[in-house]
Amino acid sequence: MLRTHNCGELRIANVGEKVTLSGWVQTLRDKGGLVWIDLRDRYGITQLLFQEGISDATLIETAKSVGREFVLQATGEIIERSSKSDKIPTGDIEIKVTELKVLNKALTPPFKIENETDGGDDLRMKYRYLDLRREVVREKLQLRHRMMQQTRSFLDAQDFIETETPVLIKSTPEGARDFIVPSRINSGEFYALPQSPQTFKQLLMVSGFDRYFQIVKCFRDEDLRADRQPEFTQIDCEMSFVEQEDILSTFEGLMKHLFKNVKGVEAPDFKRMPYSEAMKLYGSDKPDTRFEMTFKELNTVAQNKGFNVFDSAELVAGIVVPAAASYTRKQLDEITNWVKRPQIGAKGLVYVKCNEDGSFKSSVDKFYTQEDLAAWAALSGASKGDLILVLSGDIAATRKALGELRLEMGERLGLRNKNTFSALWVLDFPLLEWDEESERFHAMHHPFTSPKTEDIPLLESNPGAVRANAYDMVINGVEVGGGSIRIHDRETQAMMFKHLGFSDEEAKAQFGFLMEAFEFGAPPHGGIAFGFDRICALFGGSDSIRDYIAFPKNNSGRDVMIDSPSPIANEQLDELGIKLNLD
Ligand code: ASP
Repeated sequence: MLRTHNCGELRIANVGEKVTLSGWVQTLRDKGGLVWIDLRDRYGITQLLFQEGISDATLIETAKSVGREFVLQATGEIIERSSKSDKIPTGDIEIKVTELKVLNKALTPPFKIENETDGGDDLRMKYRYLDLRREVVREKLQLRHRMMQQTRSFLDAQDFIETETPVLIKSTPEGARDFIVPSRINSGEFYALPQSPQTFKQLLMVSGFDRYFQIVKCFRDEDLRADRQPEFTQIDCEMSFVEQEDILSTFEGLMKHLFKNVKGVEAPDFKRMPYSEAMKLYGSDKPDTRFEMTFKELNTVAQNKGFNVFDSAELVAGIVVPAAASYTRKQLDEITNWVKRPQIGAKGLVYVKCNEDGSFKSSVDKFYTQEDLAAWAALSGASKGDLILVLSGDIAATRKALGELRLEMGERLGLRNKNTFSALWVLDFPLLEWDEESERFHAMHHPFTSPKTEDIPLLESNPGAVRANAYDMVINGVEVGGGSIRIHDRETQAMMFKHLGFSDEEAKAQFGFLMEAFEFGAPPHGGIAFGFDRICALFGGSDSIRDYIAFPKNNSGRDVMIDSPSPIANEQLDELGIKLNLD
């Protein structure tokens, strides 16, 4: 080893020992006869001392000549510092250096290797290997490492077998586009990168593996949205001979284990909420339950009073913002403009101030008496001093917009603390979802999800009302995982494909292997997959999954460090039999 100790471990008790350290130059202070260098490695920082008269002259010359991020090896005696620092654990000591070797030079880095760096996002991504030298960034990846180890040890203890599935496969229907890889040997044919190992993990159940997991890269060629990565990591799991309840308790167990062993938090039992309730009360299938402010439907008190906007609406619903009746006109205008932004899409906003003196002031006073507004307040549970914000229109659009407004108000009121966690299961998702564009039903989760037995008759008469044995785990308004109890017999799977608009031939061509496997004794099974990057970000108290990936892509799906994607040579294209048509 080029060192006897690391830069973070020496203490006052080591004084008098002769040690060798290796690391990077964090800072250099040259006071003429005295030179200090802070030497940094992954474990910490230790101060090196070079002193005229004590250290040899050429040694001091060498020390003075190094720059930031040079790689040094220093040997010397540990001494007690005369001026101690309580900012770092090694702050009581320094090394009186007697031998110094420059192991490598370094260019001046394009940004400071410090927690508060002066480097912008683009620069840090281009030099990600330098960014990763910063403690705050490395700590995020160490959190990820701990999450991985804890996941493995929990699942291993529960008899899950970690099994790798192939990366060169064919299309899996998870609703996004596939990344495609041309095959040179099978010219004109293509592999797809897995959007998830879904079909393979189901086949492993047919194989009798009973419990499978994998911490696995998945690939989805989705349209660019903030904080989406084209490749991301899942904790992918599947179990045989289980019902929904078994999956929920097993994986609630996993999450509690992670909370306990990584964050030191005892998580209470997770709440459970049917999808329909989540939509009705929060306008979202991933409600942020760290705070209340649930929807209050006001149709009965707000309609038929001559206000046409409400009378013609399918839904009139509001949220009660606590202690916000004192909002100024300007603040209310600003919130109104906020909901009218195209991303939110509301046509307008009605407010009711529940004044401290028991009176009401609303933006629709022309249509509603004080008694009317008192009825709104009573129905919505608003108290004196509260503010009721009301939206109206189509059910789906109104819920969506009000859900956004709820989150925004929660944010403004500081109710979305990153250090509190509220976890729940959202259950009973619809099996199918109407797609306006293709004018047909799509599987809301994926086509292997089983319908609730009692809803199967509805498949013919009212497909949209069929509920699935599907569940999501939601923490702080983030969908961290989702899965389902699967179909495990050929007839039901074939019926499902039929309802999704697949012809028999298409179903056979794409999923014949799975349907055939179902005929060789497939056990009842189900599973779940967690977005691993997302859980890491959540545990780290960050909104960005990028920070938790060692080498992430930017928001345009590019790796700016290695400059990818990039064109390939014509010879490569020829070999693959691909002609580009780029106009
Ligand atoms: N394959 C699914 C997904 O990636 C998860 C599951 O159903 O287990 O969302």
